[in-house]
Amino acid sequence: MRTFSKSHKLDNVCYDIRGPVMDEADRMIAAGEKILKLNIGNPAPFDFDAPPEIIKAMTDNLHNAQGYSTSKGIVQAREAILKYHRGKGVNVASVDDIYTGNGVSELITMVMQGLLDNGDEVLVPAPDYPLWTASVTLAGGTAVHYICDEQSEWFPDIADMESKITDKTKAVVIINPNNPTGAVYPREVLEKIAAMAKKHELIVFADEIYDRLLMDGVEHTSIASIDPELFCITFNGISKSHMSAGFRAGWMVLSGNKSNMGGYIEGLNMLSSMRLCSNVQAQYVIPAALSGTGSPDKELLPGGRIYEQRECIYTLLNDIDGISAVKPKAAFYIFPKIDAKKFNITSDEQFVLDLLRTKKILLVAGGGFHWEQPDHFRIVYLPNIDQLKLSMAEMKDFLSTYRQK
Ligand code: PLP
Repeated sequence: MRTFSKSHKLDNVCYDIRGPVMDEADRMIAAGEKILKLNIGNPAPFDFDAPPEIIKAMTDNLHNAQGYSTSKGIVQAREAILKYHRGKGVNVASVDDIYTGNGVSELITMVMQGLLDNGDEVLVPAPDYPLWTASVTLAGGTAVHYICDEQSEWFPDIADMESKITDKTKAVVIINPNNPTGAVYPREVLEKIAAMAKKHELIVFADEIYDRLLMDGVEHTSIASIDPELFCITFNGISKSHMSAGFRAGWMVLSGNKSNMGGYIEGLNMLSSMRLCSNVQAQYVIPAALSGTGSPDKELLPGGRIYEQRECIYTLLNDIDGISAVKPKAAFYIFPKIDAKKFNITSDEQFVLDLLRTKKILLVAGGGFHWEQPDHFRIVYLPNIDQLKLSMAEMKDFLSTYRQK
């Protein structure tokens, strides 16, 4: 018999958006049950609207956006992106090094398709945003996970990272600010990673999509700004910072020394041309988004929704016997630890399923983020405070008697 699918390669990946838990949630919804979704980082369903400037830029330009653009994107968008990243100290040569995409997601797949031959390895964080592992795998590579350390505010364990480099390692992925932990890496950590990447001639893929969603006065440093010679590809977009995930507007920026990258860049240009271009209306929104207007700043300050919801979920989680969580400094995720021994948890997926069936609350198990032990889960704290309070009261009640069989 012929086989017609390579989906087997994706067993065990992207469990934030698919898999047995999602199947069960879909079944329950189809049966008319109401579920509180704390599983996906999509602001719109929780009454976060895109700022009016963004909607205006999109509607004003509908007429201009009827045709394909050049494959990397309209110059106005790429000039705004160039200015933004240069403003963060990144050594970008010109707009030719900038590619727009249908969200960062499309570009993540593209950079892996262009890079990897069978057996090549890429260092990916654990926990990770699972599309990174999926894209490495689908391109024929092997994702080798380095540990981020909960004891050190979820910063990457540099020694673990370095110990996993082999002669097949091509690149290292840094997700900063991080999904699912909400960590923001300090400069010293980034300096060590940059030095390691340079020493071992690794490409750095820096996913910085949450760099405008910072709290508590923390500052974000782009790893690409640390060393002007380091070859980095930095990813960013407006899905989260401008609450407009459905517009599908993202980009990537190549920076640093490209002298050894000619073949790879040629491949990226080819792949970019093969999809013709990214959604053109959404490209017109990028200059407005990066001009600084309409950013969600006030939501991230005391009194703002994201800030107050973070305070609420952090306090309520730590108040449950058997749960502990590091306070996130960015984005809108928290990755709590559950005492697996106390609740006899051997399968985090089963725990999430049991909670879903009993309390109609949908989470993602830590395993969905390539966390190996069955002792973590992710909560998206976009729902309003009343919903968060209710869900945590329900979780507390559930855990007061839960013991996994
Ligand atoms: N990178 C990270 C770390 C994310 O969390 C997400 C979405 O959740 C993406 C990339 C994808 O974003 P986009 O909407 O630009 O495809």
